[in-house]
Amino acid sequence: MVKKEFKAESRRLLQMMVNSIYSQKEIFLRELISNASDAIDKMYYKALTNDSVTFDKDNFYIKLTANKDDRTLTIEDTGIGMTKEELEKNLGTIAESGSFAFKKENEMKDGHDIIGQFGVGFYSAFMVADSVTVLTKAFGEETAFVWESDGVDGYTIEEAEKSHTGTTITIKLKENADEENYDQFLEEYELKSIVKKYSDFIRYPIKMDVTVH
Ligand code: ADP
Ligand code: MG
Repeated sequence: MVKKEFKAESRRLLQMMVNSIYSQKEIFLRELISNASDAIDKMYYKALTNDSVTFDKDNFYIKLTANKDDRTLTIEDTGIGMTKEELEKNLGTIAESGSFAFKKENEMKDGHDIIGQFGVGFYSAFMVADSVTVLTKAFGEETAFVWESDGVDGYTIEEAEKSHTGTTITIKLKENADEENYDQFLEEYELKSIVKKYSDFIRYPIKMDVTVH
């Protein structure tokens, strides 16, 4: 399996995320839910412009699953998904991400302000993650792919199995440290309150499935 390196600019932002001491790390969830919602929007517009696509409301949702045994948090959406090329382009290059605009304006001067003021995008997951896995199947495609990265050494993309169109992002949480409690992101109550705080306006249902054992 070939490991690809992130582009230099992505690497800088990732480094900032991985080593972040920012106190509101919880905003990673806002970013991932916002991406999931965007991906469902794209299906919705497809349905508006394409007679062969129907948008049955019940089939479109975002689902959070916390697994305490594995210490993983999963964000699943039934949105448009990504092709292999899109995975490569969207998650490997910062220019394709919303993070780019703020980076230029602020020259990365201070992670605190930047993270608070702007959408930092997908890479914010690395504030809380040891590794991130993106399993995705694009609308109209037969093959699914899985993108995986520890945010440092680059990323891999491989073929994978997935029955439905959409994207499932799995975050392997960092180990708890002195001042950092990553386990909070496995608690139903905590997740609910973060969703309420930052993602209340999202137009699609956000479901939750917490596995305790
Ligand atoms: P932004 O959302 O501002 O474009 P992000 O860093 O949050 O920046 O995401 C980068 C890109 O990755 C998105 O524009 C989108 O193309 C793709 N992407 C991220 N998450 C998903 C998802 N759940 N489904 C489909 N595409 C996604
Ligand atoms: Mg985004």
